[in-house]
Amino acid sequence: MDLHIPTLLVVSVFVFILMGLLTCHAWWRETRERPLAYLGAMMLLAALGVVLVSWRGRGVDFVPLIFGNVALLLSAAMNWTAMRVLVGRAPSLPGIFAGAGIWLSLCLIPAFYDAMPLRVVMYSLLAAGYGVLTAAELWRNRQSLDVAYMPALVLTLLHTVFYIVRSVIDKSLPLDQALSGVGEGVRFFSFMLFESMLYVIGIAYVTLAMVKERTELKFKAAAFCDSLTGIGNRRAFMSHGERLLADSQRRTESVALLLCDLDHFKRLNDSFGHPMGDQALIAFSRILTGNLRNHDVFGRIGGEEFACLLKEADEQEAVQVAERIRQAFSQLSMLEPGMLSVSIGVVTTRESGYDLSSLLSQADEALYGAKDHGRNRVQTLRKLYLNLTGS
Ligand code: GH3
Ligand code: MG
Ligand code: MG
Repeated sequence: MDLHIPTLLVVSVFVFILMGLLTCHAWWRETRERPLAYLGAMMLLAALGVVLVSWRGRGVDFVPLIFGNVALLLSAAMNWTAMRVLVGRAPSLPGIFAGAGIWLSLCLIPAFYDAMPLRVVMYSLLAAGYGVLTAAELWRNRQSLDVAYMPALVLTLLHTVFYIVRSVIDKSLPLDQALSGVGEGVRFFSFMLFESMLYVIGIAYVTLAMVKERTELKFKAAAFCDSLTGIGNRRAFMSHGERLLADSQRRTESVALLLCDLDHFKRLNDSFGHPMGDQALIAFSRILTGNLRNHDVFGRIGGEEFACLLKEADEQEAVQVAERIRQAFSQLSMLEPGMLSVSIGVVTTRESGYDLSSLLSQADEALYGAKDHGRNRVQTLRKLYLNLTGS
């Protein structure tokens, strides 16, 4: 089946303009994510390039040959820049203009300017070069990319392979033949227009999906983060904690909960000011981060209250960790000795079960035992009961 080339040319220009405008609109209205702006520019430049390239046989051949191909190469450069910016790198101006610059320099050589097969090979290689750069950006940064990059990578590789194949097999169909639909290369030419439309639609869709996914991740991270200390907030603690407990219950592993409440914090705020109170909260968060393991779950669950779930920890280990935290906080040099202290209630799943709410309420009992016994101490629920019963 041969596709009608003039129709394809018109359709591709309209598709590129429509996709370009929609992508710019998505950039402007929703996210201001720069990859979308570069991608929109890529599509609008592609539309311009196709219009200019179609100006063959009108006595101004330098327009399609020079400006048309320059617009198309700049379009490929914008595609590369979109992915470069998406992975967090700055646009490269020399890289953006390199393809167009090489093309312009070569067009100064009459032997190149007059040889269509040579031009087709060179253009295809430059376009494939940008394709390789685009794919390389995604591949090199795949570890740090927190979104699904594979569809964009596969699309880009297919597009690149297409241009490499074109540099080898394209019969370099003159445009007058292409427009009249006769000649050996008609099928390839129409396939090329078809491929570029599919690529533009595909890459716009997957890039928009990546940008949206990243925005959602950012919102989710913000919703799970305590803005003062940078550690997890109550929502994060409850959500990750429940998962850890369910996991540990399945493996019948013991988990310990430390509930920490900074002592006389109101007094500290009143005496030294709220900013000093904030600094104490940040310092305590750092102590937690430094004393807990990666797979432990902890967070700031209230004003000056913090909770930590220690994976695979029994009461003895939990008390040791809690003591380390208590001592580290009381030894901070930001205030006079005795001004900073924390009380910690400790319970484990062995005596309190794997339900997070009941673990928290039992740890609260232990914590209030610590407050009652003079603060700046670690209290287990078991010892509290032993004391209460006088055994
Ligand atoms: P206790 O030893 O019994 O725990 O006494 P406390 O003063 O620590 O407890 P209380 O619940 O009376 O006061 C908690 C204080 O924590 C009151 C509140 O102003 C302060 N606070 C809560 N959130 C923040 C915060 O983000 N920054 C600062 N600086 N203070 C906070
Ligand atoms: Mg409190
Ligand atoms: Mg307190």
